[in-house]
Amino acid sequence: MKIVSACLLGVKCNFEGNHSLNSALMADFVKGDLFPVCPEVLGGLSVPRSPSEIVAGDGLDVIEGKAKVVNSAGVDVTNNFLKGAYETLRIAQAIGAKEAFFAEKSPSCGSNLIFDGTFSNRLIQGNGVTTALLKKNGIKVISKKSTQKKSSPIV
Ligand code: SF4
Repeated sequence: MKIVSACLLGVKCNFEGNHSLNSALMADFVKGDLFPVCPEVLGGLSVPRSPSEIVAGDGLDVIEGKAKVVNSAGVDVTNNFLKGAYETLRIAQAIGAKEAFFAEKSPSCGSNLIFDGTFSNRLIQGNGVTTALLKKNGIKVISKKSTQKKSSPIV
């Protein structure tokens, strides 16, 4: 059993109430091999919501208290992101997941690229908050992208 970003399975849980369907994952889901999670919703954030970015660091820095997550309205949402990350880890451990299929570019689920914290659409290398926590606890995170022709940015 693996965990998977819920938006990759077509759940409309991203910041603008949209999904990032990866149709190749549906067969695994139907077989019962995937457990969907949305860390930002688990952290208490609404759908839709203001987009958020990690400021002055990446997900590991947030976990270590060296960086924060702020939304586009300037509200500090670090605690929501931490709660979502720890809830996701709890679920992964409860179901014995050793791997996660996570959506790229998200400040929660990103595993190669995240936005740079300036809300200017610039990407940097780094992990999202949930990705960093899962990796720290020995869970492999595999990056997946939407297979839709036109997909929304994932946040
Ligand atoms: S990428 Fe964003 S919308 Fe998708 S599951 Fe992760 S936190 Fe939720």
